[in-house]
Amino acid sequence: MRVKPNDLSLNGLVKKETRHYETRIKNLMSTKRYLKSQEGNNMVKCPRCSKEVSNFEREWDYSVFHVKLFECDRCEKSFKAYYRAGKLSHTIPKSL
Ligand SMILES: [Zn+2]
Repeated sequence: MRVKPNDLSLNGLVKKETRHYETRIKNLMSTKRYLKSQEGNNMVKCPRCSKEVSNFEREWDYSVFHVKLFECDRCEKSFKAYYRAGKLSHTIPKSL
């Protein structure tokens, strides 16, 4: 038995599909937010004294990296942390 598609059922199907994609996009966005907050909570070790520092003063993008400027409260010197694709790549002591 063949079911004849009519405008009403087709419309409902489209709405259902749209809702499905909206849910997927929402899930993707919350995952992204989660990753971003995880990145923000990451402790970074000072390259000079290995004390873990979590508060960064500022951040910017440099080439493929995302850079954050930290100040270590133990040795009172700044260092830069380089992130690539949301993961810590390396740290560099900032020359004063
Ligand atoms: Zn330090």
